[in-house]
Amino acid sequence: MTSTELTGHSVIAGRTVAGTGKPFQAIDPASGESLEPAYSQIDVDQLHEATAAAAAAFPSFSTLPPEKHAAFLESVADEIDAVRDEIIERAAAETGLPAPRLTGEVARTSGQLRMFAGVVRSGLFRGVRVDLAQPERSPMPRLDIRQRKVALGPVAVFGASNFPLAFSTAGGDTASAFAAGCPVVFKAHSSHPGTSEIVAAAITRAVKAHDLHPGVFSAIFGPGRTVGQSLVTDPAIQAVGFTGSRSGGMALVAASASREVPIPVYAEMSSVNPVFILPGAIADGVDELAAGYVTSALGSSGQLCTQPGNVFVPRGEQGDAFVAAVQRAITAASGLTMLSPSIAGAWREGVATRDEHADVAARGSEGEGPYAPAPVVHSASLDRFLADDVLHEEIFGAASLIIRYDTVSELPAAAERLEGQLTATLHLTDADAAEARALIPVLERKAGRILANGWPTGVEVGHAMVHGGPFPSTSDSRTTSVGSLAIERFLRPVAYQNLPEALLPEPVQEANPWGVPRLVDGRIETA
Ligand code: NAP
Repeated sequence: MTSTELTGHSVIAGRTVAGTGKPFQAIDPASGESLEPAYSQIDVDQLHEATAAAAAAFPSFSTLPPEKHAAFLESVADEIDAVRDEIIERAAAETGLPAPRLTGEVARTSGQLRMFAGVVRSGLFRGVRVDLAQPERSPMPRLDIRQRKVALGPVAVFGASNFPLAFSTAGGDTASAFAAGCPVVFKAHSSHPGTSEIVAAAITRAVKAHDLHPGVFSAIFGPGRTVGQSLVTDPAIQAVGFTGSRSGGMALVAASASREVPIPVYAEMSSVNPVFILPGAIADGVDELAAGYVTSALGSSGQLCTQPGNVFVPRGEQGDAFVAAVQRAITAASGLTMLSPSIAGAWREGVATRDEHADVAARGSEGEGPYAPAPVVHSASLDRFLADDVLHEEIFGAASLIIRYDTVSELPAAAERLEGQLTATLHLTDADAAEARALIPVLERKAGRILANGWPTGVEVGHAMVHGGPFPSTSDSRTTSVGSLAIERFLRPVAYQNLPEALLPEPVQEANPWGVPRLVDGRIETA
Protein backbone atom coordinates (compact mmCIF):
# COMPACT_ATOMS: atom_id res chain seq x y z
CA MET A 1 0.00 0.00 0.00
CA THR A 2 1.58 3.27 -1.08
CA SER A 3 0.84 6.53 0.66
CA THR A 4 -0.18 8.16 -2.64
CA GLU A 5 -3.50 6.60 -3.64
CA LEU A 6 -3.28 6.34 -7.44
CA THR A 7 -6.47 7.77 -8.92
CA GLY A 8 -5.78 7.24 -12.62
CA HIS A 9 -6.72 10.86 -13.33
CA SER A 10 -5.10 14.15 -14.28
CA VAL A 11 -4.36 16.88 -11.75
CA ILE A 12 -5.62 20.25 -12.99
CA ALA A 13 -4.73 23.19 -10.78
CA GLY A 14 -4.79 21.07 -7.64
CA ARG A 15 -7.99 19.15 -8.49
CA THR A 16 -8.23 15.53 -9.57
CA VAL A 17 -10.02 15.52 -12.93
CA ALA A 18 -11.37 12.38 -14.59
CA GLY A 19 -10.81 12.59 -18.35
CA THR A 20 -13.52 11.87 -20.88
CA GLY A 21 -11.18 10.06 -23.32
CA LYS A 22 -10.37 6.38 -23.67
CA PRO A 23 -8.45 5.05 -20.63
CA PHE A 24 -5.06 3.37 -20.98
CA GLN A 25 -2.87 1.33 -18.65
CA ALA A 26 0.87 1.28 -18.12
CA ILE A 27 2.62 -1.96 -19.09
CA ASP A 28 5.25 -3.65 -16.97
CA PRO A 29 7.92 -4.24 -19.66
CA ALA A 30 9.53 -7.01 -17.61
CA SER A 31 6.41 -9.19 -17.84
CA GLY A 32 4.25 -7.56 -20.49
CA GLU A 33 1.38 -7.31 -17.99
CA SER A 34 -0.87 -4.25 -17.60
CA LEU A 35 -0.63 -2.27 -14.39
CA GLU A 36 -3.54 -0.87 -12.39
CA PRO A 37 -5.13 1.63 -12.34
CA ALA A 38 -6.36 2.59 -15.79
CA TYR A 39 -5.61 6.24 -16.63
CA SER A 40 -8.35 8.43 -18.06
CA GLN A 41 -7.34 10.85 -20.82
CA ILE A 42 -8.54 14.43 -20.82
CA ASP A 43 -10.15 16.20 -23.74
CA VAL A 44 -9.27 19.58 -25.20
CA ASP A 45 -11.84 21.49 -23.07
CA GLN A 46 -10.33 20.01 -19.92
CA LEU A 47 -6.89 20.96 -21.23
CA HIS A 48 -8.02 24.59 -21.46
CA GLU A 49 -8.89 24.51 -17.74
CA ALA A 50 -5.23 23.71 -17.04
CA THR A 51 -3.80 26.34 -19.39
CA ALA A 52 -6.26 29.02 -18.18
CA ALA A 53 -5.32 28.26 -14.58
CA ALA A 54 -1.62 28.50 -15.47
CA ALA A 55 -2.23 31.90 -17.08
CA ALA A 56 -4.11 33.03 -13.96
CA ALA A 57 -1.24 31.86 -11.73
CA PHE A 58 1.45 33.61 -13.76
CA PRO A 59 1.26 37.20 -12.36
CA SER A 60 1.69 36.15 -8.74
CA PHE A 61 4.08 33.23 -9.32
CA SER A 62 6.44 35.20 -11.56
CA THR A 63 6.84 37.97 -9.01
CA LEU A 64 7.47 35.91 -5.87
CA PRO A 65 10.18 37.34 -3.63
CA PRO A 66 13.37 35.24 -3.88
CA GLU A 67 13.15 33.60 -0.45
CA LYS A 68 9.53 32.45 -0.89
CA HIS A 69 10.29 31.29 -4.43
CA ALA A 70 13.39 29.30 -3.38
CA ALA A 71 11.56 27.79 -0.39
CA PHE A 72 8.84 26.49 -2.73
CA LEU A 73 11.43 24.74 -4.92
CA GLU A 74 12.99 23.19 -1.82
CA SER A 75 9.57 21.98 -0.65
CA VAL A 76 8.98 20.24 -3.98
CA ALA A 77 12.36 18.51 -3.49
CA ASP A 78 11.48 17.54 0.10
CA GLU A 79 8.05 16.21 -0.92
CA ILE A 80 9.67 14.05 -3.62
CA ASP A 81 12.33 12.72 -1.26
CA ALA A 82 9.61 11.88 1.29
CA VAL A 83 7.94 9.48 -1.18
CA ARG A 84 11.18 8.18 -2.68
CA ASP A 85 10.51 4.51 -1.99
CA GLU A 86 7.05 4.47 -3.52
CA ILE A 87 8.32 6.40 -6.57
CA ILE A 88 11.07 3.82 -7.08
CA GLU A 89 8.71 0.86 -6.67
CA ARG A 90 6.21 2.19 -9.20
CA ALA A 91 8.84 3.50 -11.65
CA ALA A 92 10.63 0.13 -11.61
CA ALA A 93 7.36 -1.62 -12.49
CA GLU A 94 6.52 0.87 -15.26
CA THR A 95 9.96 1.20 -16.90
CA GLY A 96 11.95 -1.93 -16.07
CA LEU A 97 14.79 0.31 -14.88
CA PRO A 98 16.68 -1.15 -11.91
CA ALA A 99 16.22 0.31 -8.42
CA PRO A 100 19.81 1.66 -8.09
CA ARG A 101 19.41 3.66 -11.30
CA LEU A 102 16.02 5.00 -10.13
CA THR A 103 17.42 5.82 -6.68
CA GLY A 104 20.06 7.95 -8.37
CA GLU A 105 17.40 9.58 -10.52
CA VAL A 106 15.26 10.59 -7.53
CA ALA A 107 18.35 12.16 -5.92
CA ARG A 108 19.17 13.94 -9.15
CA THR A 109 15.60 15.24 -9.44
CA SER A 110 15.41 16.66 -5.92
CA GLY A 111 19.05 17.79 -6.18
CA GLN A 112 18.38 19.88 -9.27
CA LEU A 113 15.35 21.50 -7.63
CA ARG A 114 17.60 22.48 -4.71
CA MET A 115 20.23 23.76 -7.15
CA PHE A 116 17.59 25.99 -8.73
CA ALA A 117 16.60 27.24 -5.26
CA GLY A 118 20.21 28.42 -4.96
CA VAL A 119 19.99 30.01 -8.41
CA VAL A 120 16.86 31.92 -7.36
CA ARG A 121 18.55 33.15 -4.16
CA SER A 122 21.71 34.24 -5.98
CA GLY A 123 19.70 36.42 -8.39
CA LEU A 124 22.29 36.22 -11.19
CA PHE A 125 19.68 34.76 -13.57
CA ARG A 126 17.74 38.04 -13.36
CA GLY A 127 20.42 39.51 -15.62
CA VAL A 128 20.26 42.98 -14.06
CA ARG A 129 22.17 45.67 -15.96
CA VAL A 130 22.13 49.33 -15.08
CA ASP A 131 23.38 52.19 -17.27
CA LEU A 132 23.27 55.16 -14.91
CA ALA A 133 22.00 58.50 -16.16
CA GLN A 134 24.63 60.99 -17.36
CA PRO A 135 22.73 64.29 -17.49
CA GLU A 136 25.95 66.21 -18.16
CA ARG A 137 27.00 64.06 -21.11
CA SER A 138 27.62 66.03 -24.26
CA PRO A 139 26.37 66.41 -26.90
CA MET A 140 23.38 64.35 -25.64
CA PRO A 141 22.63 63.55 -22.00
CA ARG A 142 22.26 59.84 -21.23
CA LEU A 143 19.06 58.56 -19.63
CA ASP A 144 18.85 56.00 -16.81
CA ILE A 145 18.33 52.56 -18.43
CA ARG A 146 17.88 49.37 -16.41
CA GLN A 147 17.46 45.86 -17.72
CA ARG A 148 16.33 42.61 -16.13
CA LYS A 149 15.01 39.27 -17.30
CA VAL A 150 11.37 38.34 -16.76
CA ALA A 151 9.59 34.99 -16.98
CA LEU A 152 8.02 34.12 -20.37
CA GLY A 153 4.70 32.76 -19.10
CA PRO A 154 3.14 29.29 -18.73
CA VAL A 155 5.36 26.48 -20.05
CA ALA A 156 4.26 23.11 -21.51
CA VAL A 157 6.57 20.26 -20.51
CA PHE A 158 6.51 16.83 -22.21
CA GLY A 159 7.88 14.05 -20.02
CA ALA A 160 10.56 11.72 -21.45
CA SER A 161 10.16 7.96 -21.49
CA ASN A 162 13.77 7.21 -20.61
CA PHE A 163 14.08 9.40 -17.50
CA PRO A 164 10.78 8.91 -15.63
CA LEU A 165 11.97 11.35 -12.95
CA ALA A 166 14.87 13.60 -13.95
CA PHE A 167 13.34 14.51 -17.37
CA SER A 168 9.74 14.09 -16.36
CA THR A 169 7.09 15.53 -14.01
CA ALA A 170 9.47 17.48 -11.72
CA GLY A 171 12.53 17.05 -13.93
CA GLY A 172 14.91 19.62 -15.37
CA ASP A 173 12.37 21.33 -17.64
CA THR A 174 9.81 21.77 -14.86
CA ALA A 175 12.45 22.79 -12.28
CA SER A 176 14.01 25.41 -14.56
CA ALA A 177 10.59 26.75 -15.62
CA PHE A 178 9.52 27.02 -11.97
CA ALA A 179 12.83 28.74 -11.12
CA ALA A 180 12.23 31.27 -13.91
CA GLY A 181 8.77 31.97 -12.45
CA CYS A 182 6.75 30.09 -15.07
CA PRO A 183 3.74 27.89 -14.20
CA VAL A 184 3.92 24.43 -15.82
CA VAL A 185 1.34 22.30 -17.60
CA PHE A 186 2.94 18.87 -17.70
CA LYS A 187 1.94 16.32 -20.39
CA ALA A 188 2.77 12.97 -18.81
CA HIS A 189 4.41 10.22 -20.85
CA SER A 190 1.98 7.34 -21.33
CA SER A 191 4.59 4.71 -20.40
CA HIS A 192 4.90 5.75 -16.72
CA PRO A 193 1.62 7.39 -15.63
CA GLY A 194 1.70 6.10 -12.04
CA THR A 195 5.19 7.53 -11.45
CA SER A 196 3.99 10.82 -12.94
CA GLU A 197 0.95 10.86 -10.67
CA ILE A 198 2.99 10.27 -7.49
CA VAL A 199 5.38 13.10 -8.37
CA ALA A 200 2.50 15.37 -9.45
CA ALA A 201 0.90 14.82 -6.04
CA ALA A 202 4.19 15.80 -4.36
CA ILE A 203 4.34 19.05 -6.36
CA THR A 204 0.67 19.75 -5.61
CA ARG A 205 1.33 19.38 -1.86
CA ALA A 206 4.17 21.90 -2.10
CA VAL A 207 2.00 24.37 -4.06
CA LYS A 208 -0.68 24.12 -1.34
CA ALA A 209 1.79 24.34 1.54
CA HIS A 210 3.16 27.60 0.15
CA ASP A 211 -0.31 28.97 -0.49
CA LEU A 212 0.48 29.53 -4.17
CA HIS A 213 -2.12 29.85 -6.91
CA PRO A 214 -3.11 26.25 -7.77
CA GLY A 215 -2.64 26.92 -11.49
CA VAL A 216 1.14 26.93 -10.90
CA PHE A 217 1.09 23.23 -11.79
CA SER A 218 -1.09 20.77 -13.68
CA ALA A 219 -0.25 17.23 -14.84
CA ILE A 220 -2.39 15.87 -17.65
CA PHE A 221 -2.84 12.49 -19.31
CA GLY A 222 -3.85 12.55 -22.95
CA PRO A 223 -2.67 11.50 -26.41
CA GLY A 224 0.24 13.49 -27.82
CA ARG A 225 -1.24 13.79 -31.28
CA THR A 226 -4.41 15.51 -30.04
CA VAL A 227 -4.06 16.86 -26.51
CA GLY A 228 -0.26 17.34 -26.80
CA GLN A 229 -0.71 19.31 -30.04
CA SER A 230 -3.51 21.42 -28.52
CA LEU A 231 -1.30 22.15 -25.54
CA VAL A 232 1.46 23.56 -27.76
CA THR A 233 -0.99 25.64 -29.81
CA ASP A 234 -2.89 26.95 -26.77
CA PRO A 235 -2.47 30.75 -26.72
CA ALA A 236 -1.74 30.71 -22.96
CA ILE A 237 1.40 28.59 -23.43
CA GLN A 238 4.56 30.62 -24.01
CA ALA A 239 7.31 27.96 -24.33
CA VAL A 240 7.71 24.19 -24.62
CA GLY A 241 10.23 21.75 -23.13
CA PHE A 242 10.43 18.27 -24.66
CA THR A 243 12.69 15.19 -24.62
CA GLY A 244 11.89 12.32 -26.94
CA SER A 245 11.97 11.26 -30.56
CA ARG A 246 12.98 13.40 -33.52
CA SER A 247 9.56 12.98 -35.11
CA GLY A 248 7.77 13.98 -31.88
CA GLY A 249 10.03 17.01 -31.32
CA MET A 250 9.69 18.19 -34.90
CA ALA A 251 5.90 17.81 -34.71
CA LEU A 252 5.92 20.21 -31.76
CA VAL A 253 8.22 22.66 -33.58
CA ALA A 254 5.79 22.58 -36.53
CA ALA A 255 2.81 23.06 -34.20
CA SER A 256 4.47 26.12 -32.66
CA ALA A 257 5.25 27.58 -36.07
CA SER A 258 1.58 27.19 -37.05
CA ARG A 259 0.38 29.36 -34.15
CA GLU A 260 -0.74 32.91 -34.69
CA VAL A 261 2.00 33.79 -32.18
CA PRO A 262 4.86 31.26 -32.48
CA ILE A 263 6.71 30.31 -29.30
CA PRO A 264 10.11 28.72 -28.54
CA VAL A 265 10.18 24.91 -28.50
CA TYR A 266 13.17 23.42 -26.68
CA ALA A 267 13.16 19.85 -27.97
CA GLU A 268 15.97 17.44 -27.16
CA MET A 269 15.76 14.71 -29.76
CA SER A 270 18.39 12.56 -31.40
CA SER A 271 22.15 12.13 -31.01
CA VAL A 272 24.69 9.36 -31.71
CA ASN A 273 27.43 10.90 -29.54
CA PRO A 274 30.55 10.11 -31.60
CA VAL A 275 33.67 8.88 -29.81
CA PHE A 276 37.08 9.29 -31.50
CA ILE A 277 39.76 6.93 -30.22
CA LEU A 278 43.05 8.48 -31.34
CA PRO A 279 46.18 6.38 -32.08
CA GLY A 280 48.04 7.33 -28.88
CA ALA A 281 45.12 6.29 -26.69
CA ILE A 282 44.76 2.90 -28.37
CA ALA A 283 48.52 2.28 -28.10
CA ASP A 284 48.19 2.90 -24.36
CA GLY A 285 46.13 -0.28 -23.85
CA VAL A 286 42.72 -1.51 -24.97
CA ASP A 287 41.15 -3.47 -22.10
CA GLU A 288 40.05 -0.51 -19.99
CA LEU A 289 38.92 1.37 -23.09
CA ALA A 290 36.80 -1.54 -24.30
CA ALA A 291 35.28 -2.10 -20.86
CA GLY A 292 34.39 1.60 -20.55
CA TYR A 293 32.79 1.62 -23.98
CA VAL A 294 30.67 -1.48 -23.39
CA THR A 295 29.51 -0.26 -19.96
CA SER A 296 28.50 3.11 -21.41
CA ALA A 297 26.81 1.61 -24.49
CA LEU A 298 24.77 -1.02 -22.61
CA GLY A 299 23.90 0.81 -19.35
CA SER A 300 20.14 1.44 -18.90
CA SER A 301 19.76 -0.90 -21.89
CA GLY A 302 21.40 1.81 -24.01
CA GLN A 303 18.35 4.07 -23.61
CA LEU A 304 20.30 7.22 -22.79
CA CYS A 305 20.42 10.38 -24.90
CA THR A 306 24.22 10.40 -24.58
CA GLN A 307 24.80 6.71 -25.36
CA PRO A 308 27.96 6.30 -27.52
CA GLY A 309 26.42 5.22 -30.83
CA ASN A 310 29.44 5.76 -33.13
CA VAL A 311 33.01 4.89 -32.14
CA PHE A 312 35.91 5.67 -34.50
CA VAL A 313 38.76 3.18 -34.05
CA PRO A 314 42.11 3.14 -35.92
CA ARG A 315 42.99 0.18 -38.08
CA GLY A 316 45.99 -1.91 -37.05
CA GLU A 317 46.91 -4.41 -34.38
CA GLN A 318 45.83 -2.37 -31.39
CA GLY A 319 42.57 -1.38 -33.02
CA ASP A 320 41.90 -5.05 -33.76
CA ALA A 321 42.67 -5.91 -30.12
CA PHE A 322 40.15 -3.26 -29.01
CA VAL A 323 37.46 -4.70 -31.29
CA ALA A 324 38.24 -8.23 -30.04
CA ALA A 325 37.85 -7.09 -26.41
CA VAL A 326 34.52 -5.43 -27.29
CA GLN A 327 33.39 -8.60 -29.06
CA ARG A 328 34.16 -10.72 -25.99
CA ALA A 329 32.23 -8.37 -23.69
CA ILE A 330 29.21 -8.02 -25.99
CA THR A 331 28.99 -11.75 -26.68
CA ALA A 332 28.93 -12.37 -22.92
CA ALA A 333 26.23 -9.71 -22.31
CA SER A 334 22.52 -10.37 -22.26
CA GLY A 335 19.71 -7.92 -22.96
CA LEU A 336 18.19 -5.72 -20.27
CA THR A 337 14.48 -4.93 -20.20
CA MET A 338 13.68 -1.93 -22.39
CA LEU A 339 11.32 0.85 -21.33
CA SER A 340 8.25 -0.17 -23.28
CA PRO A 341 7.03 -2.55 -25.97
CA SER A 342 7.06 0.24 -28.56
CA ILE A 343 10.62 1.32 -27.78
CA ALA A 344 11.77 -2.32 -27.92
CA GLY A 345 9.94 -2.62 -31.26
CA ALA A 346 11.62 0.52 -32.65
CA TRP A 347 15.00 -0.85 -31.51
CA ARG A 348 14.43 -4.18 -33.27
CA GLU A 349 13.45 -2.39 -36.50
CA GLY A 350 16.51 -0.13 -36.33
CA VAL A 351 18.84 -3.07 -35.76
CA ALA A 352 17.27 -5.12 -38.57
CA THR A 353 17.93 -2.22 -40.95
CA ARG A 354 21.51 -1.79 -39.72
CA ASP A 355 22.13 -5.53 -40.16
CA GLU A 356 21.72 -4.88 -43.90
CA HIS A 357 24.07 -1.90 -44.00
CA ALA A 358 26.98 -2.92 -41.73
CA ASP A 359 28.71 -6.06 -40.45
CA VAL A 360 27.72 -7.49 -37.11
CA ALA A 361 30.83 -7.31 -34.92
CA ALA A 362 29.21 -9.03 -31.94
CA ARG A 363 25.77 -9.89 -30.64
CA GLY A 364 24.88 -10.84 -27.07
CA SER A 365 21.98 -12.98 -25.93
CA GLU A 366 18.32 -12.13 -25.29
CA GLY A 367 17.57 -11.23 -21.68
CA GLU A 368 14.62 -12.34 -19.58
CA GLY A 369 11.11 -11.28 -20.51
CA PRO A 370 9.58 -10.19 -23.81
CA TYR A 371 11.36 -6.83 -24.16
CA ALA A 372 15.04 -7.51 -23.43
CA PRO A 373 16.63 -7.88 -26.90
CA ALA A 374 20.21 -9.02 -27.40
CA PRO A 375 22.70 -6.11 -27.43
CA VAL A 376 24.62 -5.66 -30.66
CA VAL A 377 27.69 -3.86 -32.02
CA HIS A 378 28.14 -3.43 -35.77
CA SER A 379 31.24 -2.39 -37.67
CA ALA A 380 31.93 -0.57 -40.92
CA SER A 381 34.84 1.07 -42.71
CA LEU A 382 35.02 4.84 -42.63
CA ASP A 383 34.37 4.98 -46.39
CA ARG A 384 31.21 2.91 -46.00
CA PHE A 385 30.04 5.07 -43.11
CA LEU A 386 30.59 8.28 -45.05
CA ALA A 387 28.65 6.96 -48.03
CA ASP A 388 25.61 5.61 -46.17
CA ASP A 389 23.09 7.89 -44.41
CA VAL A 390 21.45 4.90 -42.70
CA LEU A 391 24.60 4.40 -40.62
CA HIS A 392 24.22 7.92 -39.21
CA GLU A 393 20.80 7.21 -37.71
CA GLU A 394 20.34 6.82 -33.98
CA ILE A 395 19.17 3.42 -32.74
CA PHE A 396 17.73 4.14 -29.31
CA GLY A 397 18.89 1.22 -27.15
CA ALA A 398 21.79 -1.19 -26.77
CA ALA A 399 23.28 -0.93 -30.27
CA SER A 400 26.45 0.82 -31.38
CA LEU A 401 28.62 1.11 -34.48
CA ILE A 402 32.43 0.82 -34.65
CA ILE A 403 33.91 2.75 -37.59
CA ARG A 404 37.47 1.82 -38.62
CA TYR A 405 39.69 4.59 -40.00
CA ASP A 406 43.08 4.33 -41.73
CA THR A 407 44.78 7.56 -40.71
CA VAL A 408 43.91 10.18 -38.14
CA SER A 409 44.01 12.88 -40.83
CA GLU A 410 40.66 11.47 -42.08
CA LEU A 411 38.87 12.36 -38.87
CA PRO A 412 38.15 16.12 -39.27
CA ALA A 413 36.35 15.44 -42.58
CA ALA A 414 34.49 12.51 -40.99
CA ALA A 415 33.41 14.75 -38.09
CA GLU A 416 32.29 17.39 -40.58
CA ARG A 417 29.93 14.81 -42.12
CA LEU A 418 28.15 14.16 -38.79
CA GLU A 419 24.81 15.67 -37.79
CA GLY A 420 24.56 17.87 -34.67
CA GLN A 421 25.25 16.05 -31.41
CA LEU A 422 24.78 16.38 -27.68
CA THR A 423 28.35 15.18 -27.10
CA ALA A 424 31.62 14.37 -28.85
CA THR A 425 34.36 12.43 -27.09
CA LEU A 426 38.10 12.17 -27.65
CA HIS A 427 40.29 9.42 -26.25
CA LEU A 428 43.82 10.74 -26.45
CA THR A 429 47.28 11.01 -24.91
CA ASP A 430 49.84 13.81 -25.17
CA ALA A 431 51.04 12.14 -28.39
CA ASP A 432 47.64 12.94 -29.98
CA ALA A 433 47.65 16.67 -29.18
CA ALA A 434 48.21 17.90 -32.74
CA GLU A 435 45.44 15.70 -34.18
CA ALA A 436 43.05 16.65 -31.37
CA ARG A 437 43.77 20.33 -32.02
CA ALA A 438 42.67 19.85 -35.63
CA LEU A 439 39.51 18.01 -34.61
CA ILE A 440 38.25 20.21 -31.75
CA PRO A 441 37.15 23.22 -33.90
CA VAL A 442 35.00 20.85 -35.99
CA LEU A 443 33.55 19.22 -32.87
CA GLU A 444 32.69 22.65 -31.42
CA ARG A 445 30.50 23.24 -34.46
CA LYS A 446 28.89 19.83 -34.10
CA ALA A 447 28.32 19.23 -30.39
CA GLY A 448 27.19 20.85 -27.13
CA ARG A 449 29.76 19.06 -24.95
CA ILE A 450 33.27 17.87 -25.83
CA LEU A 451 34.90 15.45 -23.41
CA ALA A 452 38.25 13.74 -23.13
CA ASN A 453 39.18 10.28 -21.86
CA GLY A 454 35.74 9.43 -20.51
CA TRP A 455 32.35 8.31 -21.78
CA PRO A 456 29.42 10.62 -22.53
CA THR A 457 26.76 8.91 -20.40
CA GLY A 458 26.26 10.26 -16.88
CA VAL A 459 25.45 13.96 -17.28
CA GLU A 460 26.52 16.07 -14.31
CA VAL A 461 23.91 18.60 -13.15
CA GLY A 462 25.79 21.83 -12.49
CA HIS A 463 26.40 25.39 -13.53
CA ALA A 464 28.87 24.67 -16.35
CA MET A 465 27.06 21.73 -17.97
CA VAL A 466 25.68 21.88 -21.51
CA HIS A 467 23.19 19.18 -22.46
CA GLY A 468 22.16 20.50 -25.83
CA GLY A 469 23.67 20.89 -29.26
CA PRO A 470 23.04 21.63 -32.94
CA PHE A 471 20.09 20.04 -34.77
CA PRO A 472 18.94 17.26 -34.62
CA SER A 473 20.27 16.76 -31.10
CA THR A 474 18.03 19.70 -30.17
CA SER A 475 15.75 22.15 -31.92
CA ASP A 476 17.64 25.14 -30.46
CA SER A 477 21.41 24.86 -29.99
CA ARG A 478 21.73 28.08 -27.99
CA THR A 479 20.89 26.51 -24.68
CA THR A 480 20.87 23.40 -22.46
CA SER A 481 18.22 21.26 -20.81
CA VAL A 482 20.49 20.20 -17.91
CA GLY A 483 22.15 22.52 -15.41
CA SER A 484 21.40 25.98 -14.14
CA LEU A 485 21.73 27.64 -17.57
CA ALA A 486 18.49 25.81 -18.53
CA ILE A 487 16.58 28.63 -16.78
CA GLU A 488 17.53 31.01 -19.61
CA ARG A 489 15.10 29.19 -21.93
CA PHE A 490 12.15 30.63 -20.05
CA LEU A 491 13.27 34.25 -19.65
CA ARG A 492 13.40 37.36 -21.79
CA PRO A 493 14.98 40.79 -21.19
CA VAL A 494 13.01 43.97 -20.50
CA ALA A 495 14.60 47.46 -20.29
CA TYR A 496 13.17 50.28 -18.15
CA GLN A 497 14.11 53.74 -19.38
CA ASN A 498 13.86 56.67 -16.97
CA LEU A 499 11.23 55.05 -14.71
CA PRO A 500 10.97 56.60 -11.23
CA GLU A 501 12.46 54.40 -8.47
CA ALA A 502 9.01 53.82 -6.93
CA LEU A 503 7.72 52.28 -10.17
CA LEU A 504 10.70 50.04 -10.83
CA PRO A 505 10.47 46.32 -9.98
CA GLU A 506 12.65 45.29 -7.00
CA PRO A 507 15.52 43.68 -8.95
CA VAL A 508 16.32 46.91 -10.80
CA GLN A 509 15.63 49.43 -8.03
CA GLU A 510 18.66 51.56 -7.14
CA ALA A 511 18.28 50.44 -3.51
CA ASN A 512 18.59 46.80 -4.72
CA PRO A 513 16.39 45.35 -1.92
CA TRP A 514 16.81 41.76 -3.21
CA GLY A 515 20.61 42.07 -3.22
CA VAL A 516 20.84 41.05 -6.86
CA PRO A 517 24.28 41.02 -8.57
CA ARG A 518 24.33 43.67 -11.29
CA LEU A 519 26.35 45.02 -14.17
CA VAL A 520 26.52 48.76 -13.45
CA ASP A 521 27.97 50.85 -16.26
CA GLY A 522 29.59 47.65 -17.53
CA ARG A 523 31.23 46.71 -14.19
CA ILE A 524 30.18 43.65 -12.16
CA GLU A 525 28.75 44.61 -8.77
CA THR A 526 27.86 42.01 -6.15
CA ALA A 527 25.47 42.93 -3.36
P1 NAP B 1 8.06 10.21 -28.41
O1 NAP B 1 7.32 9.27 -29.26
O2 NAP B 1 8.69 11.38 -29.10
O3 NAP B 1 7.05 10.73 -27.27
C1 NAP B 1 7.44 11.69 -26.31
C2 NAP B 1 6.22 12.51 -25.90
O4 NAP B 1 5.80 13.32 -27.00
C3 NAP B 1 5.03 11.65 -25.53
O5 NAP B 1 4.34 12.28 -24.46
C4 NAP B 1 4.18 11.65 -26.78
O6 NAP B 1 2.80 11.50 -26.48
C5 NAP B 1 4.44 13.02 -27.34
N1 NAP B 1 4.35 13.05 -28.80
C6 NAP B 1 4.89 12.16 -29.66
N2 NAP B 1 4.59 12.50 -30.92
C7 NAP B 1 3.82 13.62 -30.85
C8 NAP B 1 3.19 14.45 -31.81
N3 NAP B 1 3.27 14.19 -33.13
N4 NAP B 1 2.49 15.52 -31.38
C9 NAP B 1 2.40 15.80 -30.06
N5 NAP B 1 2.96 15.05 -29.10
C10 NAP B 1 3.67 13.97 -29.49
O7 NAP B 1 9.22 9.52 -27.61
P2 NAP B 1 9.23 8.17 -26.76
O8 NAP B 1 7.86 7.62 -26.59
O9 NAP B 1 9.99 8.49 -25.55
O10 NAP B 1 10.11 7.19 -27.59
C11 NAP B 1 9.95 6.90 -28.94
C12 NAP B 1 11.33 6.91 -29.58
O11 NAP B 1 11.98 8.15 -29.27
C13 NAP B 1 12.28 5.88 -29.09
O12 NAP B 1 12.19 4.65 -29.71
C14 NAP B 1 13.59 6.54 -29.39
O13 NAP B 1 13.98 6.29 -30.71
C15 NAP B 1 13.36 7.99 -29.23
N6 NAP B 1 13.90 8.59 -27.98
C16 NAP B 1 15.08 9.26 -28.02
C17 NAP B 1 15.57 9.86 -26.88
C18 NAP B 1 16.87 10.58 -26.90
O14 NAP B 1 17.25 11.07 -25.88
N7 NAP B 1 17.52 10.70 -28.00
C19 NAP B 1 14.88 9.81 -25.68
C20 NAP B 1 13.67 9.15 -25.65
C21 NAP B 1 13.20 8.56 -26.83
P3 NAP B 1 2.08 10.08 -26.64
O15 NAP B 1 2.89 9.11 -25.87
O16 NAP B 1 0.75 10.31 -26.09
O17 NAP B 1 2.10 9.83 -28.11
